[in-house]
Amino acid sequence: MSPTDEAAPERPRDRRVFFALWPDGAVRTQIARVTKDVVSRSGGRPIAKDRLHATVAFLGNLTAAGLDAARGVPPIQVGAFELALDTIGVFAKTRVLWVGPRTVPAALLDLERRLWDALEERGFVREPRIYQPHVTLARRARPVEEAVDGVLWPVADLALVESLPDGRNVHYEVLDTWPL
Ligand code: ATP
Ligand code: MG
Repeated sequence: MSPTDEAAPERPRDRRVFFALWPDGAVRTQIARVTKDVVSRSGGRPIAKDRLHATVAFLGNLTAAGLDAARGVPPIQVGAFELALDTIGVFAKTRVLWVGPRTVPAALLDLERRLWDALEERGFVREPRIYQPHVTLARRARPVEEAVDGVLWPVADLALVESLPDGRNVHYEVLDTWPL
């Protein structure tokens, strides 16, 4: 056997993960229903209903040890809250069409801040940008101005989600959830 035939040692692959609010089936259906028209008018590429979510903290590619450290952070007990998705917007730079809350609940701001405080203590690097909670609806969207019937999303837990490549798309897998 030549040296080149030797299999490279199996290196554990990095895992791309983020903390998120993960809607149940009923909320997904409502979001899809009330945003259907605006998504189509935006001309963008829609996000499939089963992938709708609101990111709270994006961690990126983690080693097994990093993933363990992240898993050790929750629970963050800010209490359950309601998130009113009542505003449509487009991020001009990334051309992302989104729906989000006009007023961000204090509990969600608390959650994001306390989550990052705990993550920082474990060596994670905090996002420099201001937290703008939203559910991405479509990519490569044109700017649209539109009112939307609000969806009231009862949020009771925090999820840790893995992002996996899936052909030209991504597939998300909830690794764990913790009550708020
Ligand atoms: P794709 O990148 O293939 O278009 P995606 O953006 O949905 O798909 P990821 O890039 O794995 O998948 O991102 C997972 C989640 O984290 C998404 O909600 C995404 O908007 C968010 N996210 C990705 N990168 C960042 C970042 N640098 N800062 C904040 N949130 C991010
Ligand atoms: Mg991305």
